[in-house]
Amino acid sequence: MRKLQGIAVSSGVAIAKAVILNSDGQQMGVATCAPDEVDAEFVLLKEALQTASQEISACRDDVTGKIGSNYGAIFDGHLLMLQDPNLFGMMRDGILKEHYTAEYSAYAALTSYVHLFQRIQNPLMAERVNDVLDLRKRLLRILQKRKPQIQKFDQPVIILSRNLTPSETASMDTKFVMALATEIGGPSSHTAIVAEGLHIPAVVGIGPFLKYVTSGTTVIVDGDEGLFVIDPDEETLEHYRKIQRQRYSLNIHLDAMRDLPAETIDGVRIQLLGNIEFPQEANACMQSNADGVGLYRTEFLYLSGKHPDEEDHFNAYKQVVETMNGKPVTIRTVDLGADKLLEPSENTGDSESNYYINEEKNPCLGLRSIRLSLKRVELFRKQLRAIYRAAYYGPMKIMFPLVSTLAEWRQARMIAEDVKEDLQDGNIPFNPNVPLGIMVEVPSTVLMIDQFAPEVDFFSIGTNDLTQYSLAVDRTNMDVVYLYNSCDPAVLKLIDMTMRSANQHNKAVSLCGQLGSNPYFTQLLIGMGLRQISLVPGTIPEVKRVVRHARVSQCRKIAERALKMENATEIRNYLWSEYLRLFPDLDGEVF
Ligand code: PEP
Ligand code: MG
Repeated sequence: MRKLQGIAVSSGVAIAKAVILNSDGQQMGVATCAPDEVDAEFVLLKEALQTASQEISACRDDVTGKIGSNYGAIFDGHLLMLQDPNLFGMMRDGILKEHYTAEYSAYAALTSYVHLFQRIQNPLMAERVNDVLDLRKRLLRILQKRKPQIQKFDQPVIILSRNLTPSETASMDTKFVMALATEIGGPSSHTAIVAEGLHIPAVVGIGPFLKYVTSGTTVIVDGDEGLFVIDPDEETLEHYRKIQRQRYSLNIHLDAMRDLPAETIDGVRIQLLGNIEFPQEANACMQSNADGVGLYRTEFLYLSGKHPDEEDHFNAYKQVVETMNGKPVTIRTVDLGADKLLEPSENTGDSESNYYINEEKNPCLGLRSIRLSLKRVELFRKQLRAIYRAAYYGPMKIMFPLVSTLAEWRQARMIAEDVKEDLQDGNIPFNPNVPLGIMVEVPSTVLMIDQFAPEVDFFSIGTNDLTQYSLAVDRTNMDVVYLYNSCDPAVLKLIDMTMRSANQHNKAVSLCGQLGSNPYFTQLLIGMGLRQISLVPGTIPEVKRVVRHARVSQCRKIAERALKMENATEIRNYLWSEYLRLFPDLDGEVF
C-alpha cells in the first residue's frame, strides 16, 4: 500500500480499479518541408484549425448541455485562443518563413505559449497552461489524422494520468468513471472546475506516482482530504467502505434537515451562506437552503479569456440575485492578479491582446485585487455600475478584496459613490442602498481594524489569504504546503482580533475562507463570535448539522482553549475531539 497527499479539488470518495491514460508529454523535434511543399502545408494548417474549431464548439455545446453554460464557456476560451491572430501569425510564419511542417509549426507556436504561461506566477493564470496543452494535443492529433480517443468502460474505474486536459475531463463517462487522480495540476485549473461540475471526486498535484501503479490495480481517491491510495490494505479498504456507507446514510439524514434552521441548541441562529464562482451555482445555494450568497467570486467572469462588458456583468449578477429570490447576495469585486488585463482590447475590441502579460516577480504582493481595480478605474466603474443596476432586482452587498490600507478602502468607496451619481444623472434604474464592506485577508487590515470599523458596513474574513499573508506561505506552492494551515494559532488570533473590534463597533462580520466549510471548525468559529459563515454550498448541510448539535456556551469554552494552544496540530486534534463529542456514533478514527 502507498498513500500519497495531493490537492483535493472535487469532493467525494471512490474505490475502483485504476486505468492509466497517456500523459501529455508530447515532444517533437524540428520537422521541415521542401520549398515546393510549403503551400500545401499551410493549407493543411488552415484545415486543421477549422476542424479544431468545430470540435471545440461541439465540446462546448456538450458541456453546456451536461453541466451548464458557465462550464461550457471554458471551451469558448479555447476558441478565442485558437482565433488569436498572434498565435496564427506564429504558426503561419513557421511554415512560410522557416519551412516547418504544419505539425511542427503548430507544436512550436503553442509550446512557446505554454512557456509564456508557465512563467506567470499568478496561480489562476498559470493554470491556463493546461488549456494551451489541450489545444496543442488537439491540433497535433488532427494534423496526424488521428481520431479522438474516446475511452469506453463497462465497469467502474478511476482514471490516473500525469495530467488531464479540460476536454479529456469533460468527455469522461460519468457512469463508470468514479474518480480522477493526476500527478500535476492545481485547484483553479479548468480541469478541476470541470471535474467538480461533473461531481467526479478528484485529487490533483499528487507528484510522480504513475511509476508505482499499473492499470487494474485497486486505488482509492479521497477528494475530501486530497489523499490517493495505491493498492490499499484490507484495513484501509474497510475504512473507506465505512466512509462511503456513512456518507450514504448521512446524506439521507442531511436531506431531511434541509428546511430546518441553522440554530444552536441554546437558540442562537447562525447564518450559513454560499460561496459561488458561477451564477448557476446560486441554484446549489437554494438547494442547500442557504441564507444567501456570502461570496460571489466575480473574477470567474474572465475565465473564457474574453473581457466581460457591463452587460455581461449585469446579466450575471441579475441572474444570481433573481435565483436567490430575496436572499442577500454579496458580490466581491474582481480579485484578478497582475497578469492578464488587456489594455488595447478595452478600446479596440482587438482579441490579439487577450494574452497580454505583464510579469511581476512577486505577484501575490503585486498589482492584484482592489489594487488592480483602483489602477484600472474604468474596469472597476463598469463592474460597480453593473452591481448597482442588478441590486435594483434584489438585495446585494459589495465587498472589496485584499484591502490593505484605509486609503484603498476610502478610494474604492469614493469611486462607488461617484458611480451612483452617474447612474442617477443617466436616469438608469439602480439601487443606491447597497452596503459596502471589505474582506479582511491582510494582517495590516487586522492591525488597523479599529480604524476601519467605524467606516465600513461589514467585514468578511478571508482565511485563505489571511493564512497566506500572515504565515508568509504561498498557498499554491506544494513545497511549503506543510506550513499553510488556517487553524494556525497566529491566524486564529487575527480572526479573534477582528471579531472583538467588529463586535465593539457593532459591525456585521462573516467568514468566507475555506475554514468555514470544514465542520470540525464550526464550534470554534461560533465560540469566537461568528454568526455568519459563507461556505461551499455542498458543505452547508454538514456544517448545519454541527450548528444544530452545538451550544454557544460550550463553543466559547472551546474557542478560549484553542486560542491558548501553541500549534495547528494541537488545535486540530482538539477540535476533532470536540466534534466527536457531538457525534459519538463516529468511531473516532482520525485517518
Ligand atoms: C480568502 O482569501 O479566504 C477568500 C475567500 O478569497 P479567495 O480564496 O478567493 O482568495
Ligand atoms: Mg482571498
